[in-house]
Amino acid sequence: MNTTVPRTGNDADADPDEWHAASADAVLESLGTDREGLSGEAARERLEQYGPNRLPPPARRGALRRLLAQLHNVLIYVLLGAAALTAALAHWVDTGVILGVVVVNALIGFLQEGKAEHALQAIRGMLSPAATVLRDGERASVDAETLVPGDVVLLESGDRVPADLRLLEVKGLRIDEAVLTGESVPIDKAVEPVAATAALGDRFDMAWSGTLVTAGRGRGVVTATADRTEIGRISSMLTRVTTLTTPLLRQFERFGRWLTGGILALAGGTFAFGILVRGFPYTDMFLAAVGLAVAAIPEGLPAIMTITLAIGVQRMARRNAIIRRLPAVETLGSVTVICTDKTGTLTRNEMMVQSVATSRSYYEVTGSGYRPRGDFLLDGHRVDPAGRPLLADLLRAALLCSDATVSDVDGVWRVQGDPTEGALVALAMKAKLDPAAESRALPRTDVIPFESEHRFMASLHHGDDGSGSLFVKGAPERLLDMCSEQESERGTEPLDRDYWERRVEEISACGQRVIALAARSTGPDHRRLTLGDVADGLVFMGLFGLADPPREEAIQAIERCQAAGIRVKMVTGDHVSTATAIGRLVGIAEDGDSITGQELEQLDGAALAERIDRTSVFARTSPAHKLRLVEALQSRGQVVSMTGDGVNDAPALKRADVGVAMGRKGTEVAREAAEMVLADDNFASIASAVEEGRIVYDNLKKAIIFILPTNGGEAFTLIAAIVLGFALPITPVQILWINMVTAVTLALALAFEPAERGVMTRPPRRSDEPLLSAYLLWRTVFVSLLLVAGTIGLFVLERSAGAGIEAARTVAVNALVIFEVVYLVNCRLLYDSAFSRRLLRGASYSLGAIGLVVLLQLLLTYTAPLQFLFDTRAIGPNEWLRILAVAGLVFLLVELEKVVVRHLRTDAAS
Ligand code: ADP
Ligand code: MG
Repeated sequence: MNTTVPRTGNDADADPDEWHAASADAVLESLGTDREGLSGEAARERLEQYGPNRLPPPARRGALRRLLAQLHNVLIYVLLGAAALTAALAHWVDTGVILGVVVVNALIGFLQEGKAEHALQAIRGMLSPAATVLRDGERASVDAETLVPGDVVLLESGDRVPADLRLLEVKGLRIDEAVLTGESVPIDKAVEPVAATAALGDRFDMAWSGTLVTAGRGRGVVTATADRTEIGRISSMLTRVTTLTTPLLRQFERFGRWLTGGILALAGGTFAFGILVRGFPYTDMFLAAVGLAVAAIPEGLPAIMTITLAIGVQRMARRNAIIRRLPAVETLGSVTVICTDKTGTLTRNEMMVQSVATSRSYYEVTGSGYRPRGDFLLDGHRVDPAGRPLLADLLRAALLCSDATVSDVDGVWRVQGDPTEGALVALAMKAKLDPAAESRALPRTDVIPFESEHRFMASLHHGDDGSGSLFVKGAPERLLDMCSEQESERGTEPLDRDYWERRVEEISACGQRVIALAARSTGPDHRRLTLGDVADGLVFMGLFGLADPPREEAIQAIERCQAAGIRVKMVTGDHVSTATAIGRLVGIAEDGDSITGQELEQLDGAALAERIDRTSVFARTSPAHKLRLVEALQSRGQVVSMTGDGVNDAPALKRADVGVAMGRKGTEVAREAAEMVLADDNFASIASAVEEGRIVYDNLKKAIIFILPTNGGEAFTLIAAIVLGFALPITPVQILWINMVTAVTLALALAFEPAERGVMTRPPRRSDEPLLSAYLLWRTVFVSLLLVAGTIGLFVLERSAGAGIEAARTVAVNALVIFEVVYLVNCRLLYDSAFSRRLLRGASYSLGAIGLVVLLQLLLTYTAPLQFLFDTRAIGPNEWLRILAVAGLVFLLVELEKVVVRHLRTDAAS
């Protein structure tokens, strides 16, 4: 077979297409490796040779293309048309100014978009997947980017396959290859070679990079990495660019198009009116109409909304909530129910066995954390476990049936693997059992791994003499059903189910999770475990009670959520008493009663929907129940966030409005399905994300409530002058200036606003609340009128005091800009009075923006080049004082309006 020729995968001439047709050993040999994997040294060398195992990022549009894309909008077309016309009329100064505005506008849009994209790019980099490999013969978890051909990779249910693999060993391994082949049914994998001509989907002995393990376990050797993998060779993944859009943004795009059309019609009407009724010259009226359109179209709005969302994503990431899909930023602000896991999310997932029960005795265990030092107390007196055969057997069985290890890392005892199992291992070590020696004496031959569906795990062992033992550990109800006998001093005796159930109740009532253990012996030839092997005939050995203290931050976060009108529900696989006890500690249990998965199954859709409102603890649930819960809550009109970490949680995460996966203990499959990933697995981070989501929404509102009225003010100043028939108080090019200066400075500052008072004490926003409300319309009209009246008033005042038209216009331009500045201060607090200390918080962005605007206005007013371009004149201190006085008035009137509206709102609410 030609695959025995050593190959270096980088070589384009080599035929990498027939690994599937070769035997596993031949593949290993030609890759220069064996079943124990590479040495760390060899892996490093190969990494140099092959490069990192990562796909090139989606081809970003070139800078020039992106810059040109900025030019593709109605506003720019209007401006370009105006530039052409002014050029034809040889009004070169105007042409220059208009073209300048076009360039500045495009540049700013380009930079802003780049910044937003960059922010999201950085976030994506935070979710780099890991892979489990054999290096120097030992299991190690490495960054998937460091994989090289020849590495032996271990696969487990929930993993994403990190590179193309030729499988060496499989156990019930099923892989979902939809990303590659479009086939949505998971494929059963095998190790036997297949025909050389087999299609990708029929190469059962291969696992493809990017596909997802839905069940079982396996081991395979890396045959290709990076863009030499099958997924790397097709382009669909490479071109998957994230779009910077959300439902809200789309809603606004539609509104924007509609508004633009309306404004163009209005400009056309004004143009006709000016010529027909007022008899203004064509060219003047054309420029005025262009100025009007530019002033009125809120062209900066889409960019500001995108940036606000991007900043929200960044802030959430800083608080350990990593957004995978942008719309979640928006949805988070309207979440009404959070369903959360218990273990690790509300609790610390630092388990310690505190109680042990055998068929005769009940022991308490002392110690702290995973440190394997502590005593066994019987009725308060120390006992030696070695002298208590029932206890010693139970501890040995628990040790053998666990995969985790505990070790001393710089003076702190830490667990590698499942914390529940780590606690059992530490417990056995407290009784002086040595994990390495025990597993040498009774090596493991097979295992059924723990899954939350089954709530147990089983392991099979064979000693030197060939005799076999089978251990099962898991939830007591499950194990009691498998047993008809229990262990006693004399061997076995009939199972005393009542006794054990009482013990379980006692232990779990203190908030401890209970694990039971059962065993039986088996023959030397029984070397494969199946579910049938553990169905019955086991001997019950005893129980362990594990304490897992709640997280302090979670308790506070739950309180904050409740104050914010968000209900928190716990969904756990644990016993109902354990769950309720923990629920009481963290402040969830008061909010409703509890129900078990089994009871839940008895309820039909309607009954569940009715029941769910008054239930806050869901115990002994399996992942399928989570999906039902989400659907029931949604049928009640709730906006639901649901957490999960396993493969089978994926449907519920997808269905939830905000699916939340765990960044540490979660599987890749769950992360894939989720909108958000918690970097620290901590409930408190969900609450933080909700808070940030509300802030984002507030800031979007602020940007809109600022931009619409100021654009209105600019536009109506021109319209009013034309309709009333007097000289324009602001020339069209001056309007272009104002529009450019304010749109990119003032409005943008609102994207950076910190939280308002009460973000987390008001009820969630209704998800159907329109952003474009009657109130917004009112505010737009009200403030537009104030700005128009102030600007025209000051202009008329200057003229009647004998000022020249240029000086009067300079006053009008400065007045309009200063009004916008004070209105920005009004807008910084949506609900509260601006006369508040809170205004000082997070003010640096808006102060910076205001400073910049003032500087630009001074340049416009006092420097010769700008005076020439925009036809402005220097103005004196009296003029400035008058402007400031009127600006103060505008400010007070808006604050007054806020007071009135606040009163109307509370009246309406009560
Ligand atoms: P949750 O994560 O919601 O707390 P799990 O699904 O992890 O719940 O656990 C449910 C039950 O399964 C536990 O109460 C315990 O009895 C059992 N269990 C948990 N982990 C293990 C394990 N590693 N081995 C055996 N049984 C386990
Ligand atoms: Mg768990």
